Formats: sequence, C-alpha cells, structure tokens
Amino acid sequence: MYFFNEKTVSELMIPSEKVAHVHMNNPLEHAMLVLIKSGYSAIPVVDTEFKLKGLISMSLILDSILGIERIEVEKLENKIVEDVMNREVPSIHENESLLKGLKLSIDSTFLCVVNDEGIFTGILTRR
Ligand code: AMP
Repeated sequence: MYFFNEKTVSELMIPSEKVAHVHMNNPLEHAMLVLIKSGYSAIPVVDTEFKLKGLISMSLILDSILGIERIEVEKLENKIVEDVMNREVPSIHENESLLKGLKLSIDSTFLCVVNDEGIFTGILTRR
C-alpha cells in the first residue's frame, strides 16, 4: 500500500510520445487508419495545443457511418474526429497518487493523464 501511495501517476504512465493518438480536426478516415495500425480499440483525441479533448474508437466510427442496410463508407470523407469522438474521457492529474489511479482504472481499460493546463501527458494502463 505504501508503494501505491508514494508513487505518482507520472512515474508509471506511458508518456504521450509513445501513445497512439489523433487530433480532433483529423479526417475520420485517418483515425480509422491509426486505430487499425495500432491495434487498440480506443485512443485519445487532442486539440492543436495538445489538450485532452476526447476518445475515439472503431465502434464510434462504424456507428457514425452505419446506414439502414449497409455501412456507408462514403460518409467517412465528410467527417472529422471531433464529429464522432466521445467527450467524456476517464482522466487523472499526473501528480495524483498511483493508488487513486488504480481505483479509477477499475472502470476503464486506461486513464488519460493530464497536467495543470489540461495538456495530455500520457496514459495509465492496468498493465
Ligand atoms: P493494455 O493494458 O496494454 O492492454 O492497454 C489497455 C488499453 O490502453 C488499450 O486497449 C488501449 O486502448 C490503450 N493503450 C495502451 N497502450 C497504448 C498506446 N501505446 N497508444 C494508445 N493507446 C494505448
């Protein structure tokens, strides 16, 4: 327990440079490519200042182009990440204790980590 209380999230997170992510103004097709190539089902979304803005996943993208009878792939061209992303992001401040991080990660496969300015600095996974 001592270990988890003493260590901060920033000491164990995966730094943002190593995290697959997209910008909110990227075309949706680009997000799809990053998701497929990275192999992750959901990744963080940032703005031009690198502030954390949301999460994008393959299921959100597919749901947004789903027609009545088929997947309307041509719809991809007209959409950007911002149109489809989930704005509710499980997140934690980088200076919080690992214990708090662990508690929050009970409900999420990963937590996005931010600093005082809301800049995205990494992710905390259970692994
Ligand atoms: P893991 O515990 O490594 O399976 O990661 C759990 C979740 O965290 C994955 O399903 C991804 O959504 C996310 N994740 C882990 N590593 C990365 C990474 N390098 N880039 C983007 N997302 C990641």
